[in-house]
Amino acid sequence: MSANSITGTIQAIRTATGATSGIVLHEPTFAGNEWAYVKDTIDTGWVSSAGKYVNQFEEQLQEFTGARRAIAVANGTAALHVALLLAGVERDTEVVMPALTFAATAAAAAYIGAVPHFADSEYTTLGIDPDKLAAHLDSIAERRKDGTYNKTTGRRIAAIVPMHTFGHPVRMDELCALCEAWNIPLVEDAAESLGSYYKGKHTGLFGTLGTLSFNGNKTITTGGGGAILTDDVALADKAKHITTTAKLPHKWEYFHDMVGFNYRMPNLNAALGCAQIEQLPTLLAQKRVLAERYIKAFACVSGVQFVREPEHCVSNYWLNAIMLDKADMTLRNDMLEQTNAAGLMTRPVWTLMSRLPMYAAAPRMDLGVAQDIEARLINIPSGAGLAAGAPSEMAG
Ligand SMILES: *Cc1c(COP(=O)(O)O)cnc(C)c1O
Repeated sequence: MSANSITGTIQAIRTATGATSGIVLHEPTFAGNEWAYVKDTIDTGWVSSAGKYVNQFEEQLQEFTGARRAIAVANGTAALHVALLLAGVERDTEVVMPALTFAATAAAAAYIGAVPHFADSEYTTLGIDPDKLAAHLDSIAERRKDGTYNKTTGRRIAAIVPMHTFGHPVRMDELCALCEAWNIPLVEDAAESLGSYYKGKHTGLFGTLGTLSFNGNKTITTGGGGAILTDDVALADKAKHITTTAKLPHKWEYFHDMVGFNYRMPNLNAALGCAQIEQLPTLLAQKRVLAERYIKAFACVSGVQFVREPEHCVSNYWLNAIMLDKADMTLRNDMLEQTNAAGLMTRPVWTLMSRLPMYAAAPRMDLGVAQDIEARLINIPSGAGLAAGAPSEMAG
């Protein structure tokens, strides 16, 4: 049975990608104007903190996502850091987030001196389970004049931060209702979900602010980069100000009206982003083709399930994933060993944030589902370029 699911997985990855080895987890695709725009920044000398590509990239992001404002920044972690600050997160408050996330979500809260409060996931979305969180808040939270507090720690709960795991949107209707009922700001970590929609609306637009990442392994890349999305123009102006050293505009004076961050995205990186976002619809279509090939290829592999987009959602299928039928660390590790040895790059999901030493004392609810997913989930090769390699009998 276990040998079966491993050889079956190797065969399914080869069938879906049309390659036998040398496949990495997520390779960027540069098929458009990337070189022309990047070269232009060098030819003109505008590589750094000024130049036309930053504004252009922000406008393209607004147009693609439907956000009223997009603010390009140095990376997704910086975007989250500033989004949490602007949502009102302060030292010694708590930020509710999934235990099953990348380290950046928790780090952004910790930068402010806030404490992550870990929530469990659900199987269908891999993200926060809104029903379980609702029950948890009923037992530990209380409304006071100046906000919602965790009765057991005495700290204010300053934000709820869902994360759309591998591009699969969380149940936002339920989560938004919960945030409204408790009057807690919602900030979405949409780092993995550019091009993912919940009931027709782009992820990252449901709360006060949302954040994106354009790291080298994300759906589109600027080398390193991120963005803050918001429909609140005043917050957007603040985000721009605080991420660009908080300098007041002037012909020559250097006057900064607060401690700002140097979190701006350089023009060089934005140039790459402008070319990449032109390619985004094509990349998303290719990723969908690859996911559909995986669905077919894994249909007859015993012991594993391919993770599919949740109901009412369009997922960008940023990282494809399979789940072992049961939590079995020996099988999981054998699967990782043998797929990687075969030249097919696979990776386990992140170690739960709740198990990292710096968050040992952080509050948490029961994390049974997240722990189960941690022992069962494996990411498989996902670059958009792999869709081109599949053999014709898999097409359609
Ligand atoms: C990629 C990612 C980020 C941001 O990462 P950067 O490398 O700083 O751009 C944040 N949260 C999640 C869940 C991510 O996957």
